[in-house]
Amino acid sequence: MEILFLGVGEACDPEHGNTSIQVVTSGGVHVLCDCGFSVPHRYFASCTDPEELDFVWISHFHGDHFFGMPLLLLRLWEMGRTKPLTICGQRGVGDKITRTLDLAFPGFGAKLAYPVVYEDIEPDTPRRIGGLSFQAVQTVHSERNLGLMLDDGTGRLYYSGDGRPSQGVAELIRQCDIAVHEAFMLNDEFPSHGSITGCLELVRDCRLCKLALVHLERKFRREQADVIEGIIQANPHLVLPVQGTRLIA
Ligand SMILES: [Zn+2]
Ligand SMILES: [Zn+2]
Repeated sequence: MEILFLGVGEACDPEHGNTSIQVVTSGGVHVLCDCGFSVPHRYFASCTDPEELDFVWISHFHGDHFFGMPLLLLRLWEMGRTKPLTICGQRGVGDKITRTLDLAFPGFGAKLAYPVVYEDIEPDTPRRIGGLSFQAVQTVHSERNLGLMLDDGTGRLYYSGDGRPSQGVAELIRQCDIAVHEAFMLNDEFPSHGSITGCLELVRDCRLCKLALVHLERKFRREQADVIEGIIQANPHLVLPVQGTRLIA
């Protein structure tokens, strides 16, 4: 599968955008993982086909991960989409997106010319939808967040959303070819966020092919760029993507 980074930053990062990836599976299925404030403009800067997107995965209900949904849905409608769009996330994702859309564009939900299908995916109920396997795991975050293992039959991706890895995260990542993981700071200063050292442990334990560090705190990323670069250089499994980076799993 191919991964395109639409954004790699945290909520307030004006330079790197909100963290979001666009996945194209080996079978050509398009999955957007998270859709924060800055994501729709970035997505539509290169997307010209309103029918291209098959799935959206929402990791949790912080604005930098889902407040782009109203604009995404509006713009797909404006471009003439007719194909159903499946939105996956933890229990209640349908209600949350529906209410957010109604706040942003009152009454607009009824006008959509394409069906929006909501699928609840919880850690205890792995799902197989549209030829893809979705398996979730809860991370340690201030808002309930689910990391996702996406399996297209030939490759496995782990996408963390936000939060420090739980024991279940390490178990899922061990099965994956590539992981995209939040690393807010160098060390575990924040109890509800991941870190670069925490990701290094995941790499060491799991012998991953690649782990992409995202959602770095913006001041830390800027002021300790040399330290971060030194860690990347010393660890061939780690990648520090920017907007527009593509990785192949
Ligand atoms: Zn976030
Ligand atoms: Zn969050």
